Amino acid sequence: MLTPAVSEDLSQPAPLKIEGPFLGSQPAPDSRRLFGLNAEALAACMVAAGEPAWRGNQLAEALYRQRVTELEAITTLPKVLRQRLADEGWQVGRPRITQVFQSVDGTERYLIECPGVDGATVETGLPGESFNAAGVVETVWMPEGDDGETGDESGTESAEASVAHHQQTTLCISSQAGCAVNCQFCFTAKLGFQRNLTAGGIAGQVVAVFSRHAVEVGRDRVNLVFMGMGEPFLNYSNFMCAVQLLVREVGLIPQRMTVSTSGIIPGIERFAAEPPELRPRLAISLNAPNDAIRTEIMPINRKWPIQSVIDTVRRIPLRPRERITFEYVLLGGVNDQPSHSAELAHLIRRSGLPAKVNLIAWNPGPGISYATPQPEAIEAFRKTLIDSGIPAYLRKPRGRDIYAACGQLKRTVEACKTQTCV
Ligand code: SAH
Ligand code: SF4
Repeated sequence: MLTPAVSEDLSQPAPLKIEGPFLGSQPAPDSRRLFGLNAEALAACMVAAGEPAWRGNQLAEALYRQRVTELEAITTLPKVLRQRLADEGWQVGRPRITQVFQSVDGTERYLIECPGVDGATVETGLPGESFNAAGVVETVWMPEGDDGETGDESGTESAEASVAHHQQTTLCISSQAGCAVNCQFCFTAKLGFQRNLTAGGIAGQVVAVFSRHAVEVGRDRVNLVFMGMGEPFLNYSNFMCAVQLLVREVGLIPQRMTVSTSGIIPGIERFAAEPPELRPRLAISLNAPNDAIRTEIMPINRKWPIQSVIDTVRRIPLRPRERITFEYVLLGGVNDQPSHSAELAHLIRRSGLPAKVNLIAWNPGPGISYATPQPEAIEAFRKTLIDSGIPAYLRKPRGRDIYAACGQLKRTVEACKTQTCV
């Protein structure tokens, strides 16, 4: 509910006050950020200030379509109103790209400072890990994608393809700083959980990168994957509010968004109830053909084992042609054997789900001692799935040289020390 401010002194303009869907209470003067509020919340903000509600649409247009970063640049608002907003401590407050790392393959990895982090803040407890007070996360731009979207429902529409730029581009977004899930093969896990991002922090990564690359929404085709740092379904409300902003205010379509989860059942249950016009596609990080292996590499499997995850996924009313993606990180000698591919094929066929499998060869790094499988083992694994009638694709590693590949997003400070920052 949005509560208009009451002013006793009618000669003075009412102070701006908002209790919108993204802000539970009156924000402190040092955290009055417009970015992250939807058009209704912005309109309420304007009404509370004695302005017409349609000024909220002007604000939304400026923040999410024109991608302004300063109040001064919102020229559709009268100068005096812009000044008043600034005097009361309001700012645009969009997440900011603070560093860019460029790979030889064209991939860019960004460090993005997301103000307005919320949720509990936890020290990692790991030696040498400093507290991520600024809410710095990593976002990755892959101009040629990584083939993760091959075979998706969105791939069947090509009306705009002849004029579109960025046709293959994939943008990988973070939902949390760090992650609490503790998958044994993942470098983000090493950070532990640091912060939940707000809706503005999540959607702002997209708007900041779109601004950098002058993406034209509606003409260009960019796939969004919520596969960066963090577990989106452990920050569900902020994640879904971000999707709403991206769909309603930025103008993106959910068929070109994929959210990946390690199998958080309460999150999947909420996801199943989302309206189709707002629900992204779903990927499940399966990574093992049975509970014994999965529990070893993903301890969360003890709480939510494979069959319970699959049973919950089956409750999602899928769109025509929509498929569930099963992500499978191949760990040499652990889950990449012929018996594993056969067991996986059986598991997926038995589920009855329209599904595809995205295979990823494990991306290595210091401090974790799994092995990347041999190319022949990967191809044999894929072939078994395909021969069983299951579409299976191999995701290309992108930006390995700048630690931008899947699961490598971690330790931003260390990365800065060893790489060239642009
Ligand atoms: N937390 C969510 C989304 C982020 S992880 C999830 O787990 O689904 C995104 C993907 O990266 C997951 O499928 C995960 O299994 C994979 N991944 C993690 N570490 C990896 C590594 N070192 N190499 C390759 N893929 C990895
Ligand atoms: Fe978290 Fe996903 Fe990494 Fe697991 S794979 S630790 S859920 S980011």
